[in-house]
Amino acid sequence: MTDAPAAFPAGGAGNLDGKSSADPSPAEPGPPPAEGPGQEFAPKTTVLDRDGDGHPPVLTGPLVGLQARNVSAWFGTHKVLERVSLTMEPGMVTALIGPSGCGKSTFLRILNRMHEMVPGASLGGEVLLGSEDIYHPSKRPSDVRRKIGMVFQKPNPFPAMSVYDNVASGLKLAGIKVRDKDTVVETSLRRSGLWNEMHRRLRSPGGALSGGQQQRLCIARALAVSPDVLLMDEPCSALDPTSTRRIEETIAELESQVTIVIVTHNMQQAQRVSRNCAFFLASEGTPGHIVESGPTEQLFDAPVDPRTADYVHGRFG
Ligand code: ADP
Ligand code: MG
Repeated sequence: MTDAPAAFPAGGAGNLDGKSSADPSPAEPGPPPAEGPGQEFAPKTTVLDRDGDGHPPVLTGPLVGLQARNVSAWFGTHKVLERVSLTMEPGMVTALIGPSGCGKSTFLRILNRMHEMVPGASLGGEVLLGSEDIYHPSKRPSDVRRKIGMVFQKPNPFPAMSVYDNVASGLKLAGIKVRDKDTVVETSLRRSGLWNEMHRRLRSPGGALSGGQQQRLCIARALAVSPDVLLMDEPCSALDPTSTRRIEETIAELESQVTIVIVTHNMQQAQRVSRNCAFFLASEGTPGHIVESGPTEQLFDAPVDPRTADYVHGRFG
């Protein structure tokens, strides 16, 4: 893996914020670095949707879903997922629930080719983004990760970097050059629900924000490259109830613009935010698998499998 391309302008003419002291090492794994040369930012078939208040346009391309087919996973010889198949519908929120250790995070990392970064890790099966096989030999992991972004459990903005540069770093890490960085930053902050709080504080360091704001900053960073899919691994588990609610509102606002897959341990949250839900289980040392998936309402109100009923009613896990 190489560093982000040097061709990226450090502080373009349109940069609201000028240069900041960039801290290149986030505490947690940030968006994976880009590989290969920079690309021009060329949104596909894109509708420019300028809202009534003259806000910058939101780039809304065609919605794309994800489909996992018979996905199995190993760490060394330890098999942790067994033939997981799941359709994550375009422009909807799919929640992954299940007890700790049943492979939810592993499954999520397989969806954007991060699992293969773990030494000794391997997998089988297929993942389709729309009709594209993300594991086709012609696909570069960095290109896949640009289309399928990730937000982690613990907010991981670059702490010494400004709010503006944190968002713009999403572009830099993906090796994307844009003509109007200010617009991308503003749009991404609006989409993550942070613009109103932050537009006068674009030069503040990311580390000075509250935990909930930092997580929305990470969402903005992930959105800066206009991904088709946003993966979120327990994005609220480190946050207080108010910040959690705010993130849930952001998820609701993003639904219909981007396909979202969220891992959550909070059953109320799964019910509030998701349209569809998949229940994972790894019983008695067997690899994780999906017991049941379908519309969230059905999983919670009329589950087919008694283990699903026990889990969603808090009887174990
Ligand atoms: P969940 O997110 O549902 O809690 P994980 O996907 O994190 O589950 O873990 C699934 C299984 O894979 C667990 O048994 C865990 O110990 C194992 N595992 C996770 N990450 C690694 C790793 N980097 N190396 C080895 N084993 C791992
Ligand atoms: Mg996990």
